Amino acid sequence: MRRSLRKDRAEARTFAAFSALFASFLALFGAFGCTPAPEPAKTTFAAMDTVMTLTVYGGEADALAAARDRVLELESRLSVTDPDSEIATLNRDGTAALSPDTAELLRRALALCAQVDGALDITIYPVVRAWGFTTGDYTVPDEAALSALLEKVDYTKVRLEGDTASLPAGSEIDLGAVAKGWTGDELAALLREEGVKSALLELGGNIHTVGSKPDGSDWRVAVRDPGDPEGYIGVVSVSDKAVVTSGGYERYFERDGVRYWHIMDPRTGAPARSGLASVTIVADSGLYADGLSTALFVMGAEGALDYWRAHRDFEVVLVSEDGSVTVTAGLARAFALSAGCHLTVAQP
Ligand code: AMP
Ligand code: MG
Repeated sequence: MRRSLRKDRAEARTFAAFSALFASFLALFGAFGCTPAPEPAKTTFAAMDTVMTLTVYGGEADALAAARDRVLELESRLSVTDPDSEIATLNRDGTAALSPDTAELLRRALALCAQVDGALDITIYPVVRAWGFTTGDYTVPDEAALSALLEKVDYTKVRLEGDTASLPAGSEIDLGAVAKGWTGDELAALLREEGVKSALLELGGNIHTVGSKPDGSDWRVAVRDPGDPEGYIGVVSVSDKAVVTSGGYERYFERDGVRYWHIMDPRTGAPARSGLASVTIVADSGLYADGLSTALFVMGAEGALDYWRAHRDFEVVLVSEDGSVTVTAGLARAFALSAGCHLTVAQP
């Protein structure tokens, strides 16, 4: 069990490191125009079960160290596996006095769960654990076990009064579907306060951009090809945006020829099989982008586009299991498709 946990984490880290490297390459590509770019300050470290790389141009000398410290602080509060974290305490004791930051994240996560009508449900944790995704000790739970666990899955039962949270007996929460997005928002705000005008924050598969590249052009962020670990289906050009992907390829196991991944449908307690292979959200807020990437993966292409038409405060790249790619109208110009892929542009 220990070995598979390590292997699983090692694979996640290798993938994250590759994505980070790849995104850096694309982001810096073309930054060397007539005006020389200011020297970047850069740091790479492991946190939140992935590899993070922060690249910052300009600003105070200690901005990067402050950003890294902030990530580690948030991780120590939010980690579901660190027994001393606020979330682990809440899960164990059924109630916890949260720090104002954690309470605010929980409040906003619960609001998003409601907004997507439960496709995102932060009380899914016992189900995720039953499948073995928290340890790497994978198993396919039987129907009876899943329906017993599903009785505890209901985000509407989480209480938050002031900064004190409480859960019904047997319920547990996991903010893993939104924590890195929120962290991106926090880091972007911190760096702006430190005078940074341009930064690329690679938090595993979550990319958060501050401003534009130092030469004034957009950052270019690759969207991975879910069917090819080394390929990408296209590149989005953005400034001041979060670009967050949820995909079945990020964490999965195979049993009897069937692939089971880590994104669960809260209605069934099983991996969401909606016909989508990945969902990439482009939005101002990292928290929103992160929550939506998970939720729209669960909804499937039709539900995702209906949601986009009803809200229009984000854009999305949908990659289906058959390899077809759909982008929403706001990305028609900002998305460059790789050769050999077929693209549909969804209209409002
Ligand atoms: P993400 O990579 O942002 O899509 O988040 C996936 C992680 O969130 C998984 O590893 C689970 O821990 C958790 N998760 C899976 N399905 C859901 C869901 N439907 N709602 C909330 N969290 C989920
Ligand atoms: Mg997410």
